[in-house]
Amino acid sequence: MSDQDWGYTGENGPASWIEKFPEARGARQSPVDIATSRASNSGNVPPLTFRYSVHHPRSVVNPGYCWRVDENGYNSELRGGPLGSDVYKLQQWHCHWGAKNGEGSEHTVDGRSFSGELHLVHWNTSKYHSFAEAAGRPDGLAVLGVFLMAGSNHEELDKVVRLLPYIQHKGDKVTMSEALDPANLLPRGSAYWTYPGSLTTPPCTESVTWILLKQPVEVSAEQLALMRKLRCGEASCGEEAMELLHNYRPTLPLGNRELRDYGGH
Ligand SMILES: [Zn+2]
Repeated sequence: MSDQDWGYTGENGPASWIEKFPEARGARQSPVDIATSRASNSGNVPPLTFRYSVHHPRSVVNPGYCWRVDENGYNSELRGGPLGSDVYKLQQWHCHWGAKNGEGSEHTVDGRSFSGELHLVHWNTSKYHSFAEAAGRPDGLAVLGVFLMAGSNHEELDKVVRLLPYIQHKGDKVTMSEALDPANLLPRGSAYWTYPGSLTTPPCTESVTWILLKQPVEVSAEQLALMRKLRCGEASCGEEAMELLHNYRPTLPLGNRELRDYGGH
C-alpha cells in the first residue's frame, strides 16, 4: 500500500516512469554511463569552489525512495567550474544504493557501477527566486555526484547513518543538530566529469548540470546495510511496508550531449 505512483521495483519501476512523467522520455535524461574516452578535455574551466555551512540544524527525512538531508535554507554555496558566474545554493543531499555491494550508483564509469552515489543538489540563486522555480529551468540545478565504494567507515556520513533507524518508514523525519560539513562528504581529488542532464527521479525534469567527482569515497558495508533497511512504505502499512533494497535508475543514452572532463585522472 503506497500513495506513491512510482518506485524501483515491479510495475512501478523505472521502465514505467515514462507513462506518467512524459519528460522521462526526453533526450537529456540521467543517469548515463561515463565513457571516459568520449569525454572532451576542458583544461581552461575555472575550478569548482564551495563554501558550505557547518553549524546549523538539518532535517533527515525518508521520502519513501531514499534518505535525504534537507539544509533548511541555510546558506551553502557552489560556484565556478561549468556553472559560469552563477551562484548555486545547496538545497538537500541524498543517496542512492544497491541491493548488494558493487551496484547502486546511478552513473557508471566505462560500464562499472559503484556501491552507491551521493547527490548534493544545488539551485541557481543568481537567476531564480526559489528551488521550485529553478528545478524547472534548463540551468536551474547543479548536482554534485560522489561515488560510494564499500571499504572503511565514513565518519562524516555516519552522522546521518546513525539516524536512519529513526526514519525507517516513509514520512519519518528527525532533526540533526550535530555540526556537519558537507565538504567532508567529497573526495580529496577535485577532478570531475560534467554534462547536461536531468533529475533521476520523477518527474525527471531536464534541469541539471551534472558534476561527477571522479574519485570515489569509501563507506563501510555496515553503513550500506543500514541504508538497505529503510522502507518505502508508511509505518501504518505494517508488514506491507516494502523494503528499499535498491533505488537507482538504470543509465540512459548520452546521445549527442557533450561530456567534459576536468582535472586529472
Ligand atoms: Zn539522486
